[in-house]
Amino acid sequence: MKNIKSINSELSTRKAPIIISGPCSAESEEQLISTCKLLADTKKVDVLRAGIWKPRTKPGSFEGVGAEGLKWLAEAKKETGLKTAVEVANVKHVYSALKHNVDILWLGARTTVNPFSVQEIADALEGVDITVLLKNPINPDLALWEGGVERILKAGVDKVGVIHRGFSKYGESNYRNPPLWRIPIELKHRYPELTMICDPSHICGKRDTLLEISQEALDLNFDGLMLESHINPDVALSDASQQVTPADLVKLIDKLIIRKSKLPNAGKNTALDRLRETINVLDSELIDLLSKRMETSDKIGEYKKENNIKILQTSRWDEILNTSIKQGKAKGLDEKFIIKVLTNIHIESITRQNDIMNSDIEVHQ
Ligand code: PEP
Ligand code: MN
Repeated sequence: MKNIKSINSELSTRKAPIIISGPCSAESEEQLISTCKLLADTKKVDVLRAGIWKPRTKPGSFEGVGAEGLKWLAEAKKETGLKTAVEVANVKHVYSALKHNVDILWLGARTTVNPFSVQEIADALEGVDITVLLKNPINPDLALWEGGVERILKAGVDKVGVIHRGFSKYGESNYRNPPLWRIPIELKHRYPELTMICDPSHICGKRDTLLEISQEALDLNFDGLMLESHINPDVALSDASQQVTPADLVKLIDKLIIRKSKLPNAGKNTALDRLRETINVLDSELIDLLSKRMETSDKIGEYKKENNIKILQTSRWDEILNTSIKQGKAKGLDEKFIIKVLTNIHIESITRQNDIMNSDIEVHQ
């Protein structure tokens, strides 16, 4: 991919992090302008966002106000002096947005996933001086995300950045779109200059985890955040449960810790920084896995209790140990190390199962 330059200064004139905010959807002139004015008053927002055409899972729900909303956004830009951003999913959207002087176009997750759509948009942008942000595709496919960036760059648009909004899932998860941090981290690894924004709103799908995901993004060296904000989130026509009022946005931003690296090459995204980011993510995954493992042993404890089975089944323990030693060896891990780690995990499981099995036994002194 040809040289990618940071577009941080295109998006923000303040010190990082870049903040992009605005409602999920433009709903009415009043809703959009009043939200945008409040956001501008916070002095913490760099770019106003609004969805004009909404990609909805099923037809019949609110599909956006269409080009009419671009006039309101242009008005919001005039009144606040802030830059504006909208999602474009086809060539018609691109032409409408350009006609209404939108500063930044973003491609949504359902567009980046389709190379035909990205190419059509790229062709329409040939020779246009505009900033483009690409959300990750809905599925965890780094090459597809990279390919999207490449198509836009090839059209001659060099102000390109990306937005990480998490990846679609099947089954239960605490997140609407689990972040799978390793994917954006690998992208940053390959293109250290690429501007990366995190979109905690679409990762979380609800308000209570927005702060922790925003903080994690900043700790992972993201350049900024895209956070949905609505003057009255509870009655929003789309994504009501994840939007926050402008006042709550300020509270969230003020709680963020901006860490300053004390290393000599601070902020230069050195190889050490990148390796440490990877370690942080892996450690956090280890903790998640350990917690899931203990939950499962607790369930086994309940089962053993109900069926009157002894906790310790040595043959089962031998089986676990041998399989893991073999797997570990194949992956370059020392046998003694595997035994140490698994023995500790096993002891903890037994202690927990013991507590479960004896939870209703009275202890007499
Ligand atoms: C949005 O930004 O409102 C949106 C629809 O996002 P995504 O493409 O990430 O689903
Ligand atoms: Mn949304």
